[in-house]
Amino acid sequence: MTVSVSAPAAPAAETVLRRPSLAGRTRAGLAEALAEIGVPEKERRMRVGQLWNWIYHYGVREFDAMTTIGKGLRGQLAAHFSLDLPEVTAEQVSTDGTRKWLMRMPSTGPHDRGAEIECVYIPEVDRGTLCVSSQVGCTLTCTFCHTGTQRLVRNLKAEEIVAQLMVARERLGDFPNRKPPEGAFVPNDGGRLVTNIVFMGMGEPLYNFDGVRDAIAIMSDDQGLSIGRRRITVSTSGVVPQIGPLGGEMGTMLAISLHAVRDELRNELVPLNKKYPIKDLLEACRNYPGLSNAKRITFEYVMLKGVNDSDAEARELVRLLKGIPAKINLIPFNPWPGTKYECSDWDRIERFSDIVFRAGYASPVRTPRGRDILAACGQLKSETEKLSARARLMLDQDQVEAVPAVAAE
Ligand code: SAH
Ligand code: SF4
Repeated sequence: MTVSVSAPAAPAAETVLRRPSLAGRTRAGLAEALAEIGVPEKERRMRVGQLWNWIYHYGVREFDAMTTIGKGLRGQLAAHFSLDLPEVTAEQVSTDGTRKWLMRMPSTGPHDRGAEIECVYIPEVDRGTLCVSSQVGCTLTCTFCHTGTQRLVRNLKAEEIVAQLMVARERLGDFPNRKPPEGAFVPNDGGRLVTNIVFMGMGEPLYNFDGVRDAIAIMSDDQGLSIGRRRITVSTSGVVPQIGPLGGEMGTMLAISLHAVRDELRNELVPLNKKYPIKDLLEACRNYPGLSNAKRITFEYVMLKGVNDSDAEARELVRLLKGIPAKINLIPFNPWPGTKYECSDWDRIERFSDIVFRAGYASPVRTPRGRDILAACGQLKSETEKLSARARLMLDQDQVEAVPAVAAE
């Protein structure tokens, strides 16, 4: 495993003085920025298109690189704005190629050091998936999830969600004319390194509906970052009233964190179930806009030893999902310090998966990725907080070579 650490974060006071960044903004946000510096209204649409292309398609980090825009306007833009992305405070690369970045968001005021969030890149043979966060912490308290033990700090803004993809593309050399770092997964069709996005990092995306919706609009725009909506999956613990609007307004793929087939147990594992029980949740799934065999819902099921992993529960799972175009994703539980749960034994997981498979579902068991860097589901943030503190300490003690994170810089 390689651990590389950037210099300790700048003090908040300096952060506050930074020029506002245009990276991550919507078209309307870019138009506002142009209005602020006096660009005439009739010119703005064209200029927004140019900015959009440079920022999101090419990933440029300096206004001066925007050669289709005249020198004068480039100078004006640079005097008022930046193209800064969140600062990467730690990057880790797992032996299996998984990468995890800890990012510090710009400070929002003198008393804010800038929230830290994580984002994980998982290369596979046929795709590269980026797991993004939608909130800092989570208000929900699923008992098996480490994020759930933390209080919610805040919702991420749309631009902070988009920035996670931009940082990943930059660090992976995944913008045009950039070189990927050594050892990076390079698709043999010459395609891009990040092809899919899953909202499975920190937070409940449907409790940050507007932020997630705007971010998805930017990330899926084919003039820019170009991740098709069919390649974006929003995972929810079951915020029933927002499931229909998610399909209608965002048109992404849906994943449901089911984890139990009886309300009594689900109430305990996913306390939101007390508000929106299984029956209501599945009803919302049946009505998910655009649902078809080509656009199935993924049901996530974490395998907890002796808790939810019996044959009877596997059969009940199949029965419950009857009539819903579905995929079932069995997730081995990722333990964290202090948890009362254990991961089911491997032969139990196989047996469970067999029952589901024989009922006609592909039931891939999600291979834990990036375990050596604590990048697995439900482990985000708190472990890394410790790690980054340790990493910084090591940096202070000069025990870690402070190398640029990847060659793309
Ligand atoms: N809040 C959303 C998305 C983030 S969690 C949701 O709950 O769906 C992403 C997935 O990781 C969810 O299916 C969640 O239940 C699962 N997860 C959380 N903690 C886990 C752990 N310790 N081991 C395995 N999966 C976990
Ligand atoms: Fe929040 Fe999802 Fe973790 Fe539940 S599983 S606490 S909803 S992040």
